[in-house]
Amino acid sequence: MNHLKGLKAAYLTLGCKLNFAETASLRDRLEGLGIQTAEEGESADICVVNTCSVTEVADHKCRQAIHRLTRRNPSAFVVVTGCYAQLKADEIARLEGVDLVVGAEQKGRIAELLAQRLADRREESQACHEKEWGPLGEIKTFAPSCSCGERTRFFLKVQDGCDYFCSYCTIPFARGRSRNGSIASMVEQARDVAARGGREIVLTGVNTGDFGRSTGETFLELIRALDEVEGIVRYRISSIEPNLLTDEIIRFCADSRAFMPHFHVPLQSGSDEVLKLMRRRYDTALFAHKMEQIKRWMPDAFIGVDVIVGMRGETDDMFNRAFDFISGLDVSQLHVFPYSERPGTRALQIPGPVAPEAKRERGARLLELSEQKRREHYARFIGTERPVLWEHAREGQPMAGFTDNYVRVRCPEGAMPEDGSISRVRLGGFCDEGACLESFDPRQ
Ligand code: SF4
Repeated sequence: MNHLKGLKAAYLTLGCKLNFAETASLRDRLEGLGIQTAEEGESADICVVNTCSVTEVADHKCRQAIHRLTRRNPSAFVVVTGCYAQLKADEIARLEGVDLVVGAEQKGRIAELLAQRLADRREESQACHEKEWGPLGEIKTFAPSCSCGERTRFFLKVQDGCDYFCSYCTIPFARGRSRNGSIASMVEQARDVAARGGREIVLTGVNTGDFGRSTGETFLELIRALDEVEGIVRYRISSIEPNLLTDEIIRFCADSRAFMPHFHVPLQSGSDEVLKLMRRRYDTALFAHKMEQIKRWMPDAFIGVDVIVGMRGETDDMFNRAFDFISGLDVSQLHVFPYSERPGTRALQIPGPVAPEAKRERGARLLELSEQKRREHYARFIGTERPVLWEHAREGQPMAGFTDNYVRVRCPEGAMPEDGSISRVRLGGFCDEGACLESFDPRQ
């Protein structure tokens, strides 16, 4: 591997936390082979792009990012992987400057493929323009991945793929069937995070609650085992389907040592008719029950909820009823996504596409509701004391952190807490245009 030593690689990741975790693991492996990571703005010998294909806009952003990278690094070896690469390998392979397209099953082998292709390229001194790609049925491997976010927070991939085939979604085509690593391997990775100084782990996956399908274990068993890992003081679950968020999981989180009162649950629509069109596996009554259970056992919990607007077949009337349902939920924030037509999905057969203007208007109403709910959540804790985990401050910005129940808090004036330390503070009023709460030393 001598031919790799001293080369520099630039990484670009688009999309979800899972992609970020996978890119970080790849970067670690390449660094282990002697390939340095290029600094911001520095030219690179290798460019790795990990793509997303969740919407048409995501595809467009990926193409733009690839063009930018290849223009900036005209002689670099360019590898493209991720959901877009799996779904449209030929399209990506034809883009100027792309040398290698790597599909989902081969993602865990990028380091080897790269080493081999770079050796070939050196001998032949020409570009490769190749694909290492296999069809959907071949996606079976679980590539372990863990990335560091804000130095103290790590993203641990516990599961990959999905068996649900919601009518609007291409993820099962891009990432394959549901699979996971073992509980033992997750515990080992969590211990490693603790040894590297990490304090908080976010459990990520495509369908996280489906953990255990390929190992005969369960998500509840996983979180029980992780809760025992010394040194990790906070866990958050990135997202969990409402039908998989069992009452036992909620009770366990409420009583656990380190699982935070913070949930992210995709609702997607507050209309049962639309949920049916989406082929989701629950109805609004089940969703409302889960929200009640969370609040029953963790009244201070932060709950983020995903909603898609403008799904084919969603009439004004359906949306208005969905809006009323969502307004009545005791949740803290909405993540609003406009429905995007994806080739190959069943949703394309549903009559009644929603006009872009109506989609925008529905999205804007939900975003306004989201902001109202977030501020209400924050306002409830003004004047109370909560533990905050302080995060590394970006240059020129005051230090900030999150409470256990996900309220963003600015560090007390004059205080200099260490990155990753936890202190109890008294929460004050809104600051930074409402994005944060002020905080005070409770002894003052
Ligand atoms: S649960 Fe549905 S929306 Fe989520 S990844 Fe699976 S198919 Fe896509």
